[in-house]
Amino acid sequence: MEERFAFLAEWYDPSAALLRRYQLLFYPKDGSVEMFDVKNQRTFLRRTKYDELHPEDLFVGNRVNVFSRQLNLIDYGDQYTANKLGSKKERTLAMIKPDAVTKVGDIIQMIYDAGLIVTKARMTRLSGKQAADFYMEHQSKSFFNNLVQFVSSGPVIVMELMGDEAVSVWRKVLGPTDSSVARKDASASLRAQFGTDGTKNAGHGSDSMASAARELEFFFPSTAGHSPPNTAKFSDCTCCIIKPHAVSEGLTGKILNSITEAGFEISALQMEIARHLRPTTLRALYGKNKVQNAVHCTDLPEDGLLEVQYFFKILDG
Ligand code: GDP
Ligand code: MG
Repeated sequence: MEERFAFLAEWYDPSAALLRRYQLLFYPKDGSVEMFDVKNQRTFLRRTKYDELHPEDLFVGNRVNVFSRQLNLIDYGDQYTANKLGSKKERTLAMIKPDAVTKVGDIIQMIYDAGLIVTKARMTRLSGKQAADFYMEHQSKSFFNNLVQFVSSGPVIVMELMGDEAVSVWRKVLGPTDSSVARKDASASLRAQFGTDGTKNAGHGSDSMASAARELEFFFPSTAGHSPPNTAKFSDCTCCIIKPHAVSEGLTGKILNSITEAGFEISALQMEIARHLRPTTLRALYGKNKVQNAVHCTDLPEDGLLEVQYFFKILDG
């Protein structure tokens, strides 16, 4: 029988404002896809060749684009698919510490280059108490107070990363804890490039799958309403949305770098399921066509505040 991978996928339908569920089938032999509407028990998409979907994108937790629909893969559809494609996939918590937040573009590029993907992201600021809770395993250490003071000294960016052996791969990207050791032993690592010393070392990564589960729950709680606050300032602001096709093509890091190089401060950031996008030189660089034009930005000055409020107050309320 022909090899076939099966998934349960969710799509947010903006016109009906509800989540629709599909069975998504992928046939590696000819790269074709087929979709069934689970609720209405009927074919939604007849088996069709679709070159933009690749076997390496197919795992639970990932988002894939199928004919302009952003699908969340929420479960494997059968044991064969789970065994074949799900075995080594892990999630981990990555944090860009206050000293490296302005390097977010380069860091996200390093994440993609390491074969990991960002599945959640949020800029936040920790209170001293939250920082102490997060690092509670170190409370008896001599460096604890310095550490707590440092991670609560400014905004941080927390991310859920996913991929094969994500926990150890991300820690390898980070490099040794002490930045000067990193510069000596792993000069290409994140801490070697962006860290300062033993405390100010640019990034954090969970040290095991168990820590990852705890730390992801800390920043991205499964029960709504308890996530740490976003950092939107609601003044002198404009709203940029990196569109789904650009995210899935791995352009996020480059786009964030272009924004920073143009002199903007990124004052808030989060990864959202795109709901309402209103149809300007980032597009020349990263866009594909009129619709897949990579980014959205506010077009009227008086709309800047409204759009930032929409994403960071209303949707994130
Ligand atoms: P990590 O998992 O590589 O981040 O290292 P640890 O879990 O051991 O420590 C947590 C954080 O505490 C590190 O990332 C550093 O910011 C800080 N830290 C760890 N060890 C030391 C140390 O010996 N001296 C100082 N000043 N800070 C440290
Ligand atoms: Mg640690």
